[in-house]
Amino acid sequence: MKKTLLELIKERPLLCDGAMGTQLMIAGLAQGSCGEEWNLTHPDKVLAIQRAYAVAGSDCILTNTFGGSRIMLNRHSKADHVAEVNKAGVEIARRAFDGRDGYVIGDIGPFGGLLEPFGEFKQSQVRAAFEEQAAALVEAGADAIIIETQTSLEELLLGIKAAQQAGAACIIGSMAYDVTLDGSTFRTMMGVEPERAVQFMEENGAHVVALNCGTGMDMLRARMAVQRYKSVTDLPVMVQPNAGQPKLVNMKVVYDETPEQMVQGLVPLLEEGANIVGACCGSTPEHIRAFRGVLDQFIESKGIKHSVIHA
Ligand SMILES: [Zn+2]
Repeated sequence: MKKTLLELIKERPLLCDGAMGTQLMIAGLAQGSCGEEWNLTHPDKVLAIQRAYAVAGSDCILTNTFGGSRIMLNRHSKADHVAEVNKAGVEIARRAFDGRDGYVIGDIGPFGGLLEPFGEFKQSQVRAAFEEQAAALVEAGADAIIIETQTSLEELLLGIKAAQQAGAACIIGSMAYDVTLDGSTFRTMMGVEPERAVQFMEENGAHVVALNCGTGMDMLRARMAVQRYKSVTDLPVMVQPNAGQPKLVNMKVVYDETPEQMVQGLVPLLEEGANIVGACCGSTPEHIRAFRGVLDQFIESKGIKHSVIHA
């Protein structure tokens, strides 16, 4: 029988995937157009990216559904396609493993606006949009749901509740932190500190506490975040840092940390107790391949049984 993600995570650290957005751009997605729609219009291209991650050694793959909520799809006049986009997202990610065992993590990104009273969106509206997306992802067979790149606890909670409502077996809450201007610490854009975020996630039923993306959150900062997370929780921790600092080159944001540079921070991250490691913006299958090699050495050096997903 296939072990659940939460079962296997107790036995050994798992490897997630790398960036999807930047890979879609490389595959020809125009800036500002709807990458999630490609699950329906260019499934072969989405599959090729995710297959490259699977081949590089990812144990878990996030679905290409970051902007797959009704509110996000509506910006591209695709609000009628919520169910299909998300269902196809799960199917493509599953296919990427080519029959090998792996975990498909249904991805829910921010709805892209502000909640009342700061913005125009009602909590009930956002909750309904997340519920619709989570239901489609779970029905299509996602092994877990991640609510990612979150900066506000209010929105995060709507995502967690939606995933619970959908019956998700594993719920991952993932915050995006920015390093403060003086470099002394990091918190989300909405001012949330890591310890507070983790306590909030635990209180509200998340199974895995995570961080991804953010400005200045490289491997070193990610390690500090793991330390701060572990100081307040025993829940598994997942980290997906960007490939270094964003730089503006020819009016384009680029992340230029190479696999060799980035992977140097991996062992410290694992020593700190990270349970799922992957990467966010700017990372590529080559980064994940480098991670796989170091992760396998780590597993071996620690005498951890390199257990397989099937018991
Ligand atoms: Zn990112």
